[in-house]
Amino acid sequence: MDLPNIQTYLRPEHLENLTTWGNDWAWLAGGTWLFSEPQPHLQVLVDIQQLGWSEIEIAGDNLIIGATCPLIKLLEYPWLAEWTAITGLKAAVAALAASSKVINVATVGGNICLALSVGTLAPFMVALNASYEICNLQGELYQVAAKDFQIGSRQTILQPGEILKRVLIPLSHLTWQVNYQRLSIAATDPALAIVVTAQHQQQVRCVIAASVTAPRLLEFENRETLAREYITSLAKENFIDDGRASANYRREITAVLIQRTIH
Ligand SMILES: Cc1cc2nc3c(=O)[nH]c(=O)nc-3n(C[C@H](O)[C@H](O)[C@H](O)COP(=O)(O)OP(=O)(O)OC[C@H]3O[C@@H](n4cnc5c(N)ncnc54)[C@H](O)[C@@H]3O)c2cc1C
Repeated sequence: MDLPNIQTYLRPEHLENLTTWGNDWAWLAGGTWLFSEPQPHLQVLVDIQQLGWSEIEIAGDNLIIGATCPLIKLLEYPWLAEWTAITGLKAAVAALAASSKVINVATVGGNICLALSVGTLAPFMVALNASYEICNLQGELYQVAAKDFQIGSRQTILQPGEILKRVLIPLSHLTWQVNYQRLSIAATDPALAIVVTAQHQQQVRCVIAASVTAPRLLEFENRETLAREYITSLAKENFIDDGRASANYRREITAVLIQRTIH
């Protein structure tokens, strides 16, 4: 779709080239969302594809995925066989109810920053205890836990002019067993509920998404506690109630998906 209101298109090679930011500016990554619907509030697009960020690398104790890495690379990369959690990452990409055209072009950062309640990557990142590295317009970097990044549907903690630069996943968590479950009415519909459970020996991290406005990490001491207490835990959550499904229905199917991940 053409965006007739856009007056300026910038394609910086360095973030330092940008010294200002306006309310009608947006970062442009793959553009699959930005060009999929009218954006009357935008006049300036800042294309981030020339920044030259690396896509996938290992540094220190982390697997690092650059925000501009296309989703398709996550499916094609020659991952180490012992990184069992990667099956969950691939399931998250495959769960995108979109055509292969979108998967070829859409980026990791675009998916995370768009922050749809049905966002597929974010719950995986929360389950693996990932952190996000964010850069502000002064060039300062800071990190935030993935679980604290998205605060609602289409809402993140990013301030105007801030950009997600990299996703850091602890190498220690890549050998966890990850189970990614998603339910929608038709396969190509947006998800009504997503559950991602990451387990290692007795440790467990269980994340619910799509049925709530932003991914929620449910805290349990171990697998037995999860199996015993998840119903009580779900009773305290605020589920989305809209024309597609009631809050009660979303709570029930979330419970079913949790059961599937732990048995
Ligand atoms: C037909 C269709 C079906 C879809 N179904 C699903 C679905 O089921 N689940 C799902 O999760 N998504 C779905 N999507 C959305 C899809 O995931 C997004 O279009 C895609 O992930 C956005 O990535 P992009 O790189 O193209 O981002 P863009 O379209 O370029 O940008 C998206 C938003 O993120 C911002 N942004 C991009 N990169 C950064 C960054 N590094 N830092 C800060 N802000 C940034 C942009 O300013 C913009 O607001 C669907 C999209 C389509 C078109």
